Amino acid sequence: MFALDEELAQWDSALPEVQGSERLALGMALAWHLRQRDPARAQRLSAEITPLLDTLPFAEAALHRARLLLTAAEPEWLRGELDTAQYHAEQALALCDQATAAAPAAVAACRADACWILAWVSNDRGASAEGDRWLRQAAAAARAAADPVRIDVVDAASGICDAFGDWQTAQQRWNGRFGTDLIGAHPIAAGWISDFFGTCAFQRSEYGRAIGHLMLSFETALATGQIRRAIIVATNIGNGFTSLNAHEAALDWMQRGLDLARPTGWPLSIGMCLMQTAETLRQLGQRDAAQSLLREALNTLSPLSGSRAYAVALEYQGDLALDLGNHAAALDSFTRLAARGDALCQNDFQSSARRGQAHALSHLSRADEALAAAQAALALARDHGDASGQIAALNVLADIHTRHQLPGPELMMAPNPVLHYLQLALEIAATIEGYTVPGSLLDAAAREYAATGDYQRAYNIALRANAARDQTHSKEATNRAIAMQVQYQTERAQTEGEHHRQLAAAEAQRAEVLQQTSATLEHLSAIGQEITAHLDAEAVFRALDRHVHGLLDATHFSIFLLDPGGETLTCTFGIEAGNPLPPFQVPLDTSSANSARCVLERREILIELDEEGMTPNLIPGTLPTLTLLFAPLRVGERVLGAMTVQSLLANSYGERERLIFRTLCAYGAIALDNASAYRQVAATQEQLLEKNLELEQAYKALEEVSLTDQLTGLRNRRFFLQNVDVDVAMSLRGYDTSLHRELTECDLQAPNDLVFFMVDLDHFKEVNDRYGHAAGDSILVQMQERLREVFRESDYVIRWGGEEFLVLARATHRDEAAGVAERMRRAVAERDFVLPDGMSLSKTCSIGFACFPFLPDQPRLLSWSQVVELADQGLYIAKRSGRNAWAALYSTAATRAEGVFPRLMQQLDQAVADGEVRLVSNLTGPLALGGERRRIGLSSDLELG
Ligand code: GH3
Ligand code: MG
Ligand code: MG
Repeated sequence: MFALDEELAQWDSALPEVQGSERLALGMALAWHLRQRDPARAQRLSAEITPLLDTLPFAEAALHRARLLLTAAEPEWLRGELDTAQYHAEQALALCDQATAAAPAAVAACRADACWILAWVSNDRGASAEGDRWLRQAAAAARAAADPVRIDVVDAASGICDAFGDWQTAQQRWNGRFGTDLIGAHPIAAGWISDFFGTCAFQRSEYGRAIGHLMLSFETALATGQIRRAIIVATNIGNGFTSLNAHEAALDWMQRGLDLARPTGWPLSIGMCLMQTAETLRQLGQRDAAQSLLREALNTLSPLSGSRAYAVALEYQGDLALDLGNHAAALDSFTRLAARGDALCQNDFQSSARRGQAHALSHLSRADEALAAAQAALALARDHGDASGQIAALNVLADIHTRHQLPGPELMMAPNPVLHYLQLALEIAATIEGYTVPGSLLDAAAREYAATGDYQRAYNIALRANAARDQTHSKEATNRAIAMQVQYQTERAQTEGEHHRQLAAAEAQRAEVLQQTSATLEHLSAIGQEITAHLDAEAVFRALDRHVHGLLDATHFSIFLLDPGGETLTCTFGIEAGNPLPPFQVPLDTSSANSARCVLERREILIELDEEGMTPNLIPGTLPTLTLLFAPLRVGERVLGAMTVQSLLANSYGERERLIFRTLCAYGAIALDNASAYRQVAATQEQLLEKNLELEQAYKALEEVSLTDQLTGLRNRRFFLQNVDVDVAMSLRGYDTSLHRELTECDLQAPNDLVFFMVDLDHFKEVNDRYGHAAGDSILVQMQERLREVFRESDYVIRWGGEEFLVLARATHRDEAAGVAERMRRAVAERDFVLPDGMSLSKTCSIGFACFPFLPDQPRLLSWSQVVELADQGLYIAKRSGRNAWAALYSTAATRAEGVFPRLMQQLDQAVADGEVRLVSNLTGPLALGGERRRIGLSSDLELG
């Protein structure tokens, strides 16, 4: 069925040496296997060996004649001469029937090959059911021939055709047949089976996997003279890359396909390559180029208007019409696509047809129909497990809800239907491996999030959109796309020149223009890189100005930008005869202004005046130029403004100059758009920073409030608990250092102690009872002032609760604590408090304190909270001993570490008697040690204020 290039080379070199029957056999084989590689040579060989057939017995001659008919039929099929191909293949079948006396396996193989060609002829007609029938007959014949490679190839081809109809059923039917790996399969069979796997993966939207399979298939097809297969597979690989938005790789493969297709002249092969390239160009925003290529593709494919390829071209045509804003035409293309999809029973078209119709209908203000069509598209894509189809349908649903007020879906988590569908689309996009989410989809989501006030998410998504655009709209891909287009046109111009010698002169000129253009293009590409590298509009203007003057005769050059409202054009940059023009504005509805018309009509305007003529609409103060060229600044669908060059000479801008200017406009538009996007991102970033700052400040204020006691302005328990550990750690570090060294006098004096003072107003309840709560409050506030007078700024003064204060004196020395306590006691007792009504009131307080570490030799013996309890113990000793006093518990040289805390808390009298603890107080009389002491519940049941 297929032979390797090396085999052909061997036969070729052997041919001149052989004669008679050997030559017949070799010639037959060569002609057959050259049928796609070199159809002309195959025909010559056929003609040469036909006379030799007369020497053979009837049956054998019939079989050879059948094979030679197929050798002719296959190129006829490929050239699109479907009737002739069919006729010859059917004749070959008839001859097979007559060759009953020949070797049965050879007859069956020939029959299989005839059915094979008939199957493809049917498929190219769009008669897929008939094609299936022929493939089944081919499979039966291949089995009769007991040829495992033919059997695999034919089965795989059936699988591929089935996969276009319904891949899920195809997988169920054929996966069992082929297994999952290709080990042991003949390379040619492996190539076709990979094609089947690749096609299924493609239909499942697993493009990366599909590409892997198809690449193997491509290699095999290429090495075995299956040129048409190789072309189809190369374009399918390209299509796979396009579906992943990897345009550069896509163009790479389309170029490969085109290189293979061009010399063949086969319409379907060339048409497929052209339309796939056109589609990639479209996705890169090169609409004009895409349109001319697609028109060419549809022309080439028109004799095969029933084929799958033609249906694909219809889809691309519809999408291009949508891009161009031609919604009626788009609706027409998609409606035809729907009909083709139904006729072909290939359900991948059904969803995209509905999706396209929906999009067009929405823009034609037929909202309800649009919604129904989009939902149908989504349902179909879901049924077919087509992720790309779902994303496309969801995108359209979002678009419909953006444009029209319609009820949203029933189950909706998002804030609005637009976001609902965009989120779904993004979720599905994440399931496609290797897929770059298109910038436009992310843009839409960012816009919606911003509209709902979710700036953080909007910003993040906008960043992703930029990254995606960088990835998919790389300059390389765009440049390459332009180059491919030009290359194609050049070649076509040259071929046309050959074919129509009478038009040679005109064509030569055209070819020359294009050739010059190719050279200029390279130059322009470098310029483009420079221009688009700027992120600041002023720099873009300057770069454009420099290059415009380098490349064109432009006495006048100016740039107009559309204001955000889209109502006014502002001349943001203008130079005439080397002098800057003052900025001025043109309302967009000024029909006499060329700049406005150029923007409104989105097209280039060339005005050529003769010397006698007057420049119409001459802007006062500007020069009377004779050639004026205006071109819109477009990025995708958006028009940013216009640029104009004008010359004092007549007829200054020919085809080449216009192309150059157009290209500069394209680069300029991209660069200005980038600059404005950058500005926006920067502004958003600034806004966000500002918001963050505000939030931070608000948070700080909130935290401040939560750490402060509202009545006195003192810190609260919460603050204390947040900070105490750090001070404890610092104190312990100080002790650790000195314990590891010989203690010096200086060390002993080092301020590593923490002293916890517990201060409580005496008989405070009475104040409330007698003078009211407000009086009590005012005393608490005055208490705060007195505490601040006595303690240092760096000490923590905490309102512990009620009329009770905890002070943590930091970085101090324990011997100084008694003096501080006494000062505090006096600060309260020796000065009256003033009540709100002006009355003076004398109050006292009681103080207890204890030092941390309690035992300097073993700094970790008691925790800080235990030390606080000792301070509290001291406070109650002071209270019980008559109030207006202070008391403290100090460790002594005799303090026993073991069990010291419970001992101090429960048997303090004993501990004092044993000399284990030293009670220090301002009171000289006996201290009251025993009795119930309230629990302050520090470590276990903290009460956070
Ligand atoms: P002692 O000398 O034994 O400490 O007697 P005391 O009356 O000061 O102690 P007691 O614990 O019996 O009463 C404390 C009172 O403090 C009870 C409560 O009414 C009052 N108090 C607690 N917080 C506030 C406050 O924020 N404002 C006012 N005005 N009074 C408070
Ligand atoms: Mg009190
Ligand atoms: Mg109290």
